[in-house]
Amino acid sequence: MDTLEKLKILSDAAKYDVSCSSSGSRRKNKSGGIGNASPSGICHSWADDGRCISLLKILFTNNCVYDCTYCINRRSNDVKRTSFTPREVADLTINFYKRNYIEGLFLSSAVMINPNHTMELLIRTVEILRNEYNFNGYIHLKGIPGADIKLIRKAGAYADRMSVNIELPSDESLKLLAPQKKKNEILKPMSNMKNGIIQYKEEKKKFRSTPKFIPAGQTTQLMVGATSDNDLKILKLSENLYKKFDLKRVYYSAYVPVLNHPTLPDINTPPLLREHRIYQADWLLRFYGYQADELLNVNKPNFDIDLDPKCDWALSNINMFPMEINRASYDELLRIPGIGVKSARRIVGARKYCQLSYDNLKKLGVVLKRAKFFITCKGKFYGDKSLDSNIIKQHLLFDKNKKDNSNQVTFMSLYPEIFGTNIVQKSDKI
Ligand code: SF4
Repeated sequence: MDTLEKLKILSDAAKYDVSCSSSGSRRKNKSGGIGNASPSGICHSWADDGRCISLLKILFTNNCVYDCTYCINRRSNDVKRTSFTPREVADLTINFYKRNYIEGLFLSSAVMINPNHTMELLIRTVEILRNEYNFNGYIHLKGIPGADIKLIRKAGAYADRMSVNIELPSDESLKLLAPQKKKNEILKPMSNMKNGIIQYKEEKKKFRSTPKFIPAGQTTQLMVGATSDNDLKILKLSENLYKKFDLKRVYYSAYVPVLNHPTLPDINTPPLLREHRIYQADWLLRFYGYQADELLNVNKPNFDIDLDPKCDWALSNINMFPMEINRASYDELLRIPGIGVKSARRIVGARKYCQLSYDNLKKLGVVLKRAKFFITCKGKFYGDKSLDSNIIKQHLLFDKNKKDNSNQVTFMSLYPEIFGTNIVQKSDKI
């Protein structure tokens, strides 16, 4: 099989992995080298739902010894199989880079023969790129669960970012859909990478020449909707991962129903709106100081699909509103729908000079059509007559429906040449 055909198969096979973005690395080009992973030198883009679409994103192989039920590359599925060689991947990367098609490489892989063997092949590839071709562009490398920790450490010396995908949010789900994967084998490399990053940062303070170790940190991916795990379970897990392993990002991937199996959900389209709500909630955890337990609880374990999680939270805690814009603390301002991190900072800054009026708020970036239901300005309330959460919800939904007649950008809409339409056809294969 020629390289082009391999590329077609293995780039298509990689499309379900969304845990890539090229931010955060400052690897500079060296004299005589190729590429530059400093943030300004990278031409990358994201779809509306956070997916990065500018790296050469491929699997090293789709020959998998595992049989994860949800996965198109699983051992028992009848798909065309192929593998690159390390040099083929390195050559493709360099050639595409020189042609300006890509700014970096996202290299993942199925598990060929065993985790160590696969990890060694990935390492060999990046060794060629970094040491032989002197490539200084961005590399995101997949850590293979179950691979020896020494190999993970070795890989981290070449990669800008690494990710070990968790995919399934609970032990029960792993047992059900990916019984060959073990939770411990996923978490162990994450923990090791975290320690390696801490060590790198500490040594770098003492010695500027300290060799890099995953300078752009680690990420992971969680699948949404392949199992009965609710939003609370997923969000709690993300919260713990951020705290415990200092992850840069948790990516969420709506389960794409490409296969039929009795243990898989019987759906025709991926739960993209649910994925979107979880992304919004993740943002609230990372930048707005929310805890997962505040957003959801056992009595309400899933987000309201119609409302963003911040509005949802505000309506559930309507007794905390309205907040007076001229008195609320920075943390309180962040809880007001329609006020983001930037506008909260601007409000706090501007208040030092004068009392803010309602008209000032728009200039400070506040989205008044949402915020007006939750604030007072110089004591005056600009929302509906009463502070009734049901009435406010109707107003918010009315505004949303006026605006929302556009389709959400989906993974499949980004690849019309592959999917044709938004309807996913299930394979008859089990
Ligand atoms: S390990 Fe599982 S998820 Fe990964 S490629 Fe193999 S079958 Fe698919």
